[in-house]
Order: sequence, then structure tokens, then C-alpha cells
Amino acid sequence: MTTTNLNTGVVVVGGSLVGLSAAMLLAAKGVPFVLIEKHVSSSPHPRAIGFTTRTQEIFRTAGVGDRIPHSKGGRPRRIEVESLAGSWGQEKFWHTGGNDKPGQDKTGSDKKPGPPEQAKRPQDSAFSATNYSPCEPKAIAQDHLEPVLRERARESGADLRLGQTMTSFSQDSDGVNVTTVDQHGNETTITAKYLLACDGARSSVREALNISTSGIGTLRTLRSILFRCAPIEKYMAHDVSQFSIKHEGFEAFLVTYRDQRWALMWNDESGATISEDAAKERILEAIGDRDVTLKDIEIITQGSWTLSGKVADTFQSGRVFLAGDAAHALPPNPDVHNLVWRLDYVLRGLSEASLLEAYTTERHGVAKLRHDQIFLREDYKDYVRDTKWRAPEDASSAQIYGDVEMELGQRYVSQDIIDTEDSRGLPVVQLPEEWKGQPGTRAQHIWLQQDGKKVSTLDHFGPGWTLLSESEQWGNDLEKARKGLGWDQKDLKFLHMDAKTIPNGESFRAAYDCGTTGASLVRPDGFITWRTRERSSNTVSELMQVLHKAGHR
Ligand SMILES: Cc1cc2nc3c(=O)[nH]c(=O)nc-3n(C[C@H](O)[C@H](O)[C@H](O)COP(=O)(O)OP(=O)(O)OC[C@H]3O[C@@H](n4cnc5c(N)ncnc54)[C@H](O)[C@@H]3O)c2cc1C
Repeated sequence: MTTTNLNTGVVVVGGSLVGLSAAMLLAAKGVPFVLIEKHVSSSPHPRAIGFTTRTQEIFRTAGVGDRIPHSKGGRPRRIEVESLAGSWGQEKFWHTGGNDKPGQDKTGSDKKPGPPEQAKRPQDSAFSATNYSPCEPKAIAQDHLEPVLRERARESGADLRLGQTMTSFSQDSDGVNVTTVDQHGNETTITAKYLLACDGARSSVREALNISTSGIGTLRTLRSILFRCAPIEKYMAHDVSQFSIKHEGFEAFLVTYRDQRWALMWNDESGATISEDAAKERILEAIGDRDVTLKDIEIITQGSWTLSGKVADTFQSGRVFLAGDAAHALPPNPDVHNLVWRLDYVLRGLSEASLLEAYTTERHGVAKLRHDQIFLREDYKDYVRDTKWRAPEDASSAQIYGDVEMELGQRYVSQDIIDTEDSRGLPVVQLPEEWKGQPGTRAQHIWLQQDGKKVSTLDHFGPGWTLLSESEQWGNDLEKARKGLGWDQKDLKFLHMDAKTIPNGESFRAAYDCGTTGASLVRPDGFITWRTRERSSNTVSELMQVLHKAGHR
């Protein structure tokens, strides 16, 4: 057994979806870090299949957007069926906002459509975000996505240490100390400024820090069998990829990863592994097709997972941050995108450590709202019924929002958003086009021209702050402010929205609403921090004040 010591800026614990996303973003910014992951590769169970528009936007800025294969069939459709070969019922919707109505049969018929010919594809109105974003949501199995993120992180020089388990950690006012052990018993002690815990829903880091959680709590334990069965591929003819199966004495959920792999899941509080034969029998019952036999089924793996709704009460404790499932047992919102630029600015000495504090304020707010939205949904009613959880009473959380609003239309409310316009009374969520460039909202996507190519405003955001204006004079002011702050050009740049860049200036004015002489300041993660509708007589000092406050200079 050997012991090695190393020193770095950030230690990331956990190298699954969220840890790898963090690694890719940290590496792109050149932040020194080490990632440790106890497994040597991705989990054999693919788990997630759907990745949202906002996630794709982040992947685009990290330069991996094109490497992630396009989904076949768009939004995953879910249908209630007797069995795969039995009668098909109503389509189940993910939410009741937007244009989708709860329980409405989108086939437009009261008759059970029957598999698979009559199940027509409904329009993906609420799901498609084409006008809002340069990206589309994608369906890709998590175990196919993770290698893409890993490769991208490594290309940018990331130090990913797979097969290493964190066994202990501590922190003091100077930094954190982490001890890891590899599969041969060799120990490494890592000293870093910050620890980013992406160690999953059962986060040992969260436990060790005694960070409590709130929310609906643990709902069910499910057994999940991953398998292949060629004869059932025909049932995917209409892009229905999720089947809620119910018949006398049988209830299960069947999902296809659209790559010949399927998973059958059902409630099983015992958590005990079942025999391969028992698993196959259960799969046959879900399929309900006499032509399919046990020999057609190949079991890949099985596992047990817990369905729960828990949000950590804080995402930061001193020098330790929680992200992904460690912070909230809900779909992994892009927390790390909100955090990584902050770590970058603090570690380079461009901002005070207080810049890190709004990470919890902003992302906890989003996680809490997402938690409540999930459990208000029609398809979760059965789960909620037996719990003590009740819908929140405040109007903004009790209302049900659509996918696009939740993904692209949330407004951050935090100490870092400069509220010069009195935002009281503004909603925290609405459709992207209903926002008019208010501070705290996602800076909107508009197509621009650059060197004869079409690029999105989003492609300009990061790695530093970006000031947008139609007035060229802001460029000179920004230059003076930048020098005054002692920042490099990449830390603060000007995007001149002139007629060459944006032939239709109206679209910029409508989305950012800063007039022809005003400006809008966008953070490295693409959120508007501040705007003004006109130039004042002392713009340079105004800009410096704003960046001192919002950038914690
Ligand atoms: C069946 C199923 C289907 C799902 N479908 C979807 C979906 O369609 N869309 C969606 O958004 N989400 C989905 N999810 C949820 C999604 O898979 C998780 O939210 C996601 O994996 C969370 O990523 P994470 O990196 O935060 O945590 P995890 O994926 O849990 O990863 C944590 C990592 O930390 C490592 N680790 C833990 N402790 C240590 C330690 N001490 N030292 C070193 N390494 C450590 C673990 O080995 C693990 O790799 C699904 C989940 C399941 C179970």
C-alpha cells in the first residue's frame, strides 16, 4: 500500500452524470481540480433517458452538443396499457400546464386505440423549444451520455480518477482534506480549496455534514430489470417509449431506452434480487404476447432504486457544495453550471468567496419549486395520496407550469441580481417570451450573424461576463471598467448588437428591452444580472459598481 499527497483547487466526489458535467465545465475554464469516482465505468443500468433543452444548452456551451446523438421521436410518450400486446389506453402526460390537459386522450377518441397501429403521434407543442433555444431536448441513455462527457473533460485536461473511493474528508478555514483509497488499497490524500459533492442521493458528504432535507420524502422502492427482447421492438412504431401496465394482479412500468434495451420496474419494498427465471416470467406477463417466449429475453442486469422527493436544506456548508442528487433527489437540474463559474472567479482571485453564497439561494429555489411541481402533477397523484405532503399555499408554487416555463422561464431571486426596477410582483416562472430581459432571467436566445455563420446569443455567454448593447459607446466604457477591475478580456466582454450582427434589431429589443442606448449585463452562466435602458453620464463607475456588487469583486 502506498500513500500519495496532492494539492488542487477543487475536489469533485462522484463521477456520474453530475460529477462529469462539473468536470467538463471546470476543465473548460482551466480550474485545477481532481475528480474521484469509486466505480471504473458508468453504472450498467442506464437510468436517465431524457435530457432537457436547458441541459442541451449547457452541453452546447461546453462544446459537446454535436457529439450527443439526436433523439429518435422527440418527447418520450407514455401510455397506459393492459399489456404491451393488450389494449392501449390513454396517453399520460408529464404535466398539466401548457397545451396538454390532464388525462386527455390525445388520440382524439374514446376508443381504446389498441397496439400499435392506431396510436397516432400528438404534436409536441409544449415539449419542443425550437423557437426558444438553439437546442432540442434529446433522448439518450445515461450510460451512453457519460462517456461523451468523460471524453470531453479529458480532452480539456481533466484529472479523472476512476476506481477511487473517498473514505473521509474534513474542512477548515484554509481548505478541505480528502482521503481516497483505490481498488488495491493505495491511499491518496488530497488538499483542495473546495469540495464539490456529486455523490448521489445517498450522499455520504451530506450525511457527514448533517445537512437535513425537506420534501415529500421516500415514496417507494422499485425493482428494475434491464433486458433485451427483439420481438417487442415493433411496439415502438409510434415512438411510445413508456408503458404504464395494469391488469388484474399486475402493475409495472416498462420503458425502452430506444437502443434495444428495455427496463421493467415495479414496486418492491423488499429490495431483494430475484432469479433470472422469475424476472423473465414477469417480463413475459408485461408483454402479454403469446409469440414471445422466455428464450427471446436476455436479462442484462437488475437493480433496486428509491423514488423520493428530497431537497437538501442548504447546498453549501463552508467549503463544501452539494450538487445533483446529493442536493435534491429529483431530476438533476444543471446546478453545477451555476456553481462552476463562481468557483473559477473565486479561485482566480477575481471575486470574493461571498460570490459562492448565491449558489444555494438560486439553485435551492429552483429545486424546491421543481419538487413541488413534480408532486402536483397528475401522474404523481397516486404517490402523493398516502403522504403528509400538501401542495404549497403560495400562488406561484401551487400553480402548475409547463415544461418550457420550468426549463427556460425561471427567474433567479438572489442577492446577486441587481434589482434596479423593483421586481416585486413579478412571477418566478413564466414562458420565455413573457420575460423582457428582467434581471434574474435567462438571457434569451436570438439568432445572430457572425462571419457569415448563424450563431446564437447563447454561444457568446461565458466564460466571462458579457455586456450587450446596440450602442457602441458601451464598448469603450466596458473597456475602462474592465481595466479598473483588473480583469482580462475573457473575464468581461462587449457584444455589440449592431445591424451587422443582428439584422433585425427588433428581436433584441423585444427580448432584452434595454432600448437603443441601454445595455444588459449577462453572467457567465447566461443569466441577466443587471440592465439599464439608457446611458448615464457616469457609465464607467456605474458598471464598476455593478460588477463589484454582482461579481463580489
Ligand atoms: C430508473 C431510473 C430512471 C431515471 N430516469 C431519469 C430521466 O429520464 N431523466 C433524468 O433527468 N433523471 C433520471 N433519473 C435520475 C438520474 O439517473 C439521477 O438524477 C442522476 O444519475 C444523478 O446524478 P448524480 O451524478 O447526481 O448522482 P449519481 O448518478 O447517483 O452518481 C453518484 C456517483 O458518486 C459516486 N460516489 C458516491 N460516493 C462516493 C465516494 N465516497 N467516493 C467516490 N465516488 C462516490 C457513485 O459511485 C456514483 O457514480 C433516473 C433514475 C433512475 C434510478
